[in-house]
Amino acid sequence: MPHPFCVMDATSDELRAFLAGLGESGYRARQLLGWLYARGARRFAEMTDLPRALRERLEAEAAIDWFPVARHQVAADGTEKFLFVLEDGVQVEGVLIPDGGRLTACISTQAGCPLDCAFCLTGILGFQRNLRAWEIVGQVLAARATLGSGERITHIVYMGMGEPLANYAATVKSLRILTDPRAFGFSPRRITVSTVGLVGGIERLAKEDLKVNLAISLHATSNEIRDRIMPVNKGFAIEELLEACRRFPVAFRQRITFEYVLLEGVNDAPEDARRLVRLLKGIRAKINLIPFNDWEGSGFQRPALHRIVGFQDLLLEHGIRATVRWSKGEDIGAACGQLKETVEV
Ligand code: SF4
Repeated sequence: MPHPFCVMDATSDELRAFLAGLGESGYRARQLLGWLYARGARRFAEMTDLPRALRERLEAEAAIDWFPVARHQVAADGTEKFLFVLEDGVQVEGVLIPDGGRLTACISTQAGCPLDCAFCLTGILGFQRNLRAWEIVGQVLAARATLGSGERITHIVYMGMGEPLANYAATVKSLRILTDPRAFGFSPRRITVSTVGLVGGIERLAKEDLKVNLAISLHATSNEIRDRIMPVNKGFAIEELLEACRRFPVAFRQRITFEYVLLEGVNDAPEDARRLVRLLKGIRAKINLIPFNDWEGSGFQRPALHRIVGFQDLLLEHGIRATVRWSKGEDIGAACGQLKETVEV
């Protein structure tokens, strides 16, 4: 028996083509998309304005894939962490981060991560597999389904488990589904894709015309240190990465975000801050300084407060927009680089 067509893994054009193959009009495709993304329907039977014969045909030939929230934790600061168990038992995490009027969904693109950054707890899990597009979009839908009335997700960041550009096709497809006004309809300006700096991926993404924001996990200002804490740097030197950033189309009033986790005695010296200023010349950049979130056995430490503030001040003095991001949700392991929960299933 052929595998049913997964409607959640289809772009609006693919869905339209599938329905056309069943002899249905574009109007039916629009109805179906409305049910899936605006109303979050999980069964064709719920789609009461579709003719019964079509619903029955969809039940037979298509599927709405969905996964349960296996665990939902809420931190003291309101950050929520979701553990999702996918159909093959693989587990991934997503986080909802409230901040003033914002509610940001941080989603994963891979189960585990192959890139092995020395300071990241997700990295030590190892790599299990790439997520499919619907499994990426599904995290947003599942988190949204838990919100109360009047609450809505305002931003989406691809900063959870995994490296989005190492799962390029599914990442781009999920971005198309999320930003397509006929599907999820989320503003691309409110979506940020974060990468460790896979140069080829950045260059491809630049040509996709998706208009999403780019964030780079930089974390070091010399190749020597970056090679040590981010092995991926051995394939793409900092200079090459920043050249790709210079070529990336940055929308009016937007900036490329550079994430910089501050590790005591590794990358937190005034000389690092000065080098960072020189490196980012000519790039519309903003820097998020992330004091390291400690985890047992990491071998790294968070710098003292005066070192963190001094680093930020140096950047600000040189006209670089720099914000210290005190991570949220540390008490439930939802902070940056801490995603690693599992449950028995
Ligand atoms: S920091 Fe990101 S890219 Fe590096 S190991 Fe962790 S999840 Fe992977």
